[in-house]
Amino acid sequence: MFIAVFALQYRYMAGNGLDLDPQIAALLGETSTEIDVARKNRVFCNRNLRMDSIEMIGFDMDYTLALYHQDKLESLSIELTLKKLIEKHNYPREILDLSYDPQWAIRGLMVDRKLGNVFKMDRHSYVGRCFHGFRLLTQEQRRAAYGGEKQNFDQDRFEWIDTLFGLPEVVMYMTLVDWYDSQSAAGKMPAVDYATLFHDIRMAIDEAHRDDTLKSVIKANLSSFIVKDPLLAEALHKLRSSGKKLFVLTNSLWDYTDAVMSFLLDGERKAYPSWRNYFDLVIVGGAKPAFFNEQRPFMQVDAKSGVVSPVENAKQLSRDKVYQGGNVVEFEQATNIRGENCLYIGDHIYGDILRLRKQHMWRTAMVLQELEREIAVSDRMDGQIRDLDLLDRRNRNLESEIDFQSLRLKKIQRFLDDDALPAPTRAKLDDERKKTREALEALRDRAKLMTAEVDSLEARLERGYNPHWGSCLREGNENSRFGEQVNDYADLYTSRVSNFAPYSPLRYFRAPRRPMPHEI
Ligand code: IMP
Ligand code: MG
Repeated sequence: MFIAVFALQYRYMAGNGLDLDPQIAALLGETSTEIDVARKNRVFCNRNLRMDSIEMIGFDMDYTLALYHQDKLESLSIELTLKKLIEKHNYPREILDLSYDPQWAIRGLMVDRKLGNVFKMDRHSYVGRCFHGFRLLTQEQRRAAYGGEKQNFDQDRFEWIDTLFGLPEVVMYMTLVDWYDSQSAAGKMPAVDYATLFHDIRMAIDEAHRDDTLKSVIKANLSSFIVKDPLLAEALHKLRSSGKKLFVLTNSLWDYTDAVMSFLLDGERKAYPSWRNYFDLVIVGGAKPAFFNEQRPFMQVDAKSGVVSPVENAKQLSRDKVYQGGNVVEFEQATNIRGENCLYIGDHIYGDILRLRKQHMWRTAMVLQELEREIAVSDRMDGQIRDLDLLDRRNRNLESEIDFQSLRLKKIQRFLDDDALPAPTRAKLDDERKKTREALEALRDRAKLMTAEVDSLEARLERGYNPHWGSCLREGNENSRFGEQVNDYADLYTSRVSNFAPYSPLRYFRAPRRPMPHEI
């Protein structure tokens, strides 16, 4: 009892900054307390991480420090890619008249280039739902395509969409598969080769990223495309003032990085007139994941002219210079950092997170922009999620009752099949068979109703996340394949970098205890 009361008091005190004088708290920069943090703004932990052991924190830029207005960026990417498809790849002008809905795709989808399908998988790589164009495949069609032998989803036939930059290509692919199918069904065009179509879209969007067509539009109107987070500067300042070194490691090149980072941070705090003041190192054109698994040399970029030249001494990386390329081995030597004392925050499972976890000791945090919405939806639908759980449990009980009665019916029948059965027992068993049949029918009727109710509730919940795909982190009762990767590879995850602001830079992030099924 004493322990419980003490623990409760301690929690209360810790959550309220130990009743510090507000003036002193302000002087010490103690803003809010962790217990107040809304769920959508929390940092979640998959694997224990002590922030006091972290000496350096690296940040990816795109979709990490810089969050994009997804609909705007997606519409722009689509517009520019279609233009390239027409001008450079000889696609018909009619494709401009189609409507491309940026809401159609979510992260974690798989494109099947061969069959022109897009699908979502659960953590066992079971194909949960699958569209061909905008047509949802039936269970039989899905089974026929992916149900037989175990598929190797790593082969070139499949394209895994694990970055938000990848969503426009899925939207274009689905729309164009649909359109070409209808054109060829009407005899207006020959059947399209789905693999070529995807290849062309990929090439065109890749070009748009590389040749500045996309970035010049964004740079000309940064506030339309990039979310300016007013708490970002405070979060970075707090981490810096606790003695941690910060660095930027991005795949974007210097001129774009400079434009975006200036927009986000220049002049946000008096002590940091330029964004460069927050960071001890800046590495652009990092070519991740190659940065983590190849030995590319560090180059140096002249911040004014943008001219790239070989680095004089990669053993001494300086905060006054801007670097390009490079590799993790030389980075660790130059900064004298041990992998386990370095935290890298990124948004891309493959480029930013997976290599680090598989090959290096660096700790990882993932920015999942979708998390805010996912949490808002699950908060809003909390009552319905509970109803679904309850219905699901009832449904399972009903199923075991049906199993029991079916087995009983079979046993009764077996006795009745025996000609030597005495007449009085036969009469009793006949009566019992009738009753069991009736009970079974009633149970089956109830089960049908309940299944329909579960299905409709499930569909309503799923539509809340995304009308076509549901949540990006879940598929049916399981984690989605993407959700499972977040689970497996990101030590921490959160919806935006500024969410670190309310937490102590010494925080011991602890993973929740995860029960195995037998423990539940
Ligand atoms: P980071 O997330 O800060 O490392 O930067 C990602 C960079 O990759 C941005 O400059 C994007 O424009 C670029 N990028 C995204 N998708 C593609 C692509 O398909 N081809 C080439 N560059 C891309
Ligand atoms: Mg990124």
